[in-house]
Amino acid sequence: MSKQPCQSLFEDKTLPSVSEALEYDKNTHGFDLNALCSKLALDFHGRIRLINFIRRSKPPAANALALTGKESFFSSDEFLRPVLEDDPLLLNDTSDDWSDDDEPDAGPSSSQIDPSRRIALLERKLQQAKQDLADYKALVSQRLDLSRLQDAMREPSGSSKVVERDDDSHYFQSYGQNDIHAVMIQDSVRTSTYASFILQNPELFRDAIVLDVGCGTGILSLFAARAGAKRVIAVDASDIAKKAKQIVETNGLQDTITVVQGKIEDITLPDGIEKVDIIVSEWMGYALLYESMLDSVLRARDRFLKPGGVMAPSQCRMMLGLCEATDIYKERIGFWNDIYGFDLSAMGEEVYLDSVVDVVGPETLISEPYPVKDLYIRDIQPRQLDFVSSFTLTSNSDRRTKVHALVLYFDTFFHPSGDRLPIDTPVHITKEGGGSLAEVWPLGGKPDIVRRKSQSVQRRTSEGPGKPERRASQSPKTMSFSTGPESVPTHWKHTLFLLRDPIVVEEGNVVTGTFHCKKSEDNSRELDVEIHYTTKASADVEASGDVVVQIFKVR
Ligand code: SAH
Repeated sequence: MSKQPCQSLFEDKTLPSVSEALEYDKNTHGFDLNALCSKLALDFHGRIRLINFIRRSKPPAANALALTGKESFFSSDEFLRPVLEDDPLLLNDTSDDWSDDDEPDAGPSSSQIDPSRRIALLERKLQQAKQDLADYKALVSQRLDLSRLQDAMREPSGSSKVVERDDDSHYFQSYGQNDIHAVMIQDSVRTSTYASFILQNPELFRDAIVLDVGCGTGILSLFAARAGAKRVIAVDASDIAKKAKQIVETNGLQDTITVVQGKIEDITLPDGIEKVDIIVSEWMGYALLYESMLDSVLRARDRFLKPGGVMAPSQCRMMLGLCEATDIYKERIGFWNDIYGFDLSAMGEEVYLDSVVDVVGPETLISEPYPVKDLYIRDIQPRQLDFVSSFTLTSNSDRRTKVHALVLYFDTFFHPSGDRLPIDTPVHITKEGGGSLAEVWPLGGKPDIVRRKSQSVQRRTSEGPGKPERRASQSPKTMSFSTGPESVPTHWKHTLFLLRDPIVVEEGNVVTGTFHCKKSEDNSRELDVEIHYTTKASADVEASGDVVVQIFKVR
C-alpha cells in the first residue's frame, strides 16, 4: 500500500504517512489511537466513528483518551461519514507499513519470518482491508440513501410511498418560474403551429372535451376554448397552474376551462369526466425525449383518451444529420489548445461526454437528415422510447470537409384525425420572417376571446382571429414544424454530438451506424446516447474502417 500524507488528529499538521501521523499524535499529544481502539475493543466501524468524532468535534487529547466506548456517537451512523475527504486514517486499521507484528501466532519477528509466509500474511491483510473498505462504502451509501429518504418523507409534499429517487421536484420547480414559459410562448414556430392546428381545425375542436397535459400558462387550453371546445381540462403539476387559473379567469373562460394542479399520473378528471376527445400537450424536450414527459402523456392517453380520440401532436420524428459544426467545435473545444501559448486541451476533453445544445446554421448540415425514430403518439409504448436504430448519412458537401458532429433535431406533425403520416411526409420548414402566426393572429387584431355560449354561428366567427376567407372553406388541416437547422431556430435549438475524431468527407461518402438512446439510470429525465459509426467511400462499397463508438449524456 502506498504511503499517503495524513493529518494529525489534533492539529492541522499533515505528516507524510499514517504511521508518522499516529506516531506524532502519540509523542506530541500522548494519544495512541491503536492502543485506545484495543482498549475499547472497537471494531472496524467503531474505529471509523472514533476518528470522525475526533476530527469533527476536536476534543482535547485528554478528553479523547477518557472515552469509554459508551458515548452515543459510537452508535451513530452520522459518524461513519468521512470528515476529511479520502482520509487515509479511515483505511488503515493498524499502520501503513503493514508489519505482521500484531499477528498473534506469527512467532518470530518480521525480520526472521519466512518471506513466502510473510507474503501470505500480507495478502490476507490486504484482502481483509479491501473487504472492510467495501463494507464501509456499502454501509455509508446505504445509510446516506436512507437519510435522504427520511428527508423526503419529512417534506410536506412527500408522501409515504416515496421509496424511489426523486426526479420530479426539481423538474416541476423549474416549470414554476415565469421565464421558462416566456421562452416557450415567444418561440413562435412552436406556439403558432399549435395555435394554427387548433384554430384552423374547428370541426375537430367544436364541442369536444379536451385535456391539456402540462398546461403551463394555459395557452393551449385558451386556443382550444377559442376553437369551440365544450370543456377543457388543463393539468399541470407545477405552481404555474395557479397562474393558469388566474389567466383563465382574467379571460372569462372559467366555465369552459378547469385548471387542475397535480401530476397527470395522479389526478382524476373533474365532474365525473372519464374520457376526452382530444389530448393536446407540448411535451417535447431537447433531442425530443429529454425530460421524459412523453411517458406522462402516454399515461394520460391510456387513462383518459376515448377510443379513436386524437393526440396532438400526433407524430414526431427524430432526425440525424452530418454537421460541419466548425464554429461550435472551436468555441467549445478548439480554443483550449492555445491559451496564452499554453496547451489547455485537457479542458476540452469533458465536452465530448455531453451533447451540446446550440444553434447551427442550415449550411452546416451536409447530408440529408435521416429519421432515426418515428414516434406515432397514438400507438407508441413507453418501452419503445429506449431504442437502437440504424442510420445512413450520405455527404452532399461539394467540397472536402470535416464532419465535427452529428446533429439531432425533431419534426412534429399534427394530423386532424390523429392518423399516422407516411415516413416521407415533408415537414413544414419555417423561413425567417415566416411562420403561421399571421394566419391566427393578424397584426393589431384584438380577438373576441370572451367565450360565447353555445350558438354555433357565434362559435364559427370565434374560431380564431384568422382570415375569414380561410374559414369559409374549412377542411381538416395537417400542420407541422421542424426544429432542424433549415428552419428558423426554436427554443429547442439543435442537439450536437461532437466527434472525438472528426470525419473528413467529400460528396457521396457515407457514414453508417447505429444510434442508441435510453433513459439514464441516474436520472430518468436525462438520456444516455451511444453512437456507433463507420465510414465508407460510397453507398455501394463495403465499409472497411473500424467502428467508432462514442457515448454521450443528454442533460
Ligand atoms: N402547455 C404549455 C407548457 C408546456 S411545458 C405551453 O405550451 O406553453 C410542459 C409543462 O408540463 C410544464 O409546465 C410542466 O410542469 C408540465 N408537466 C410535465 N410533466 C407533467 C406531469 N406528469 N403532470 C402534470 N404536468 C406536467
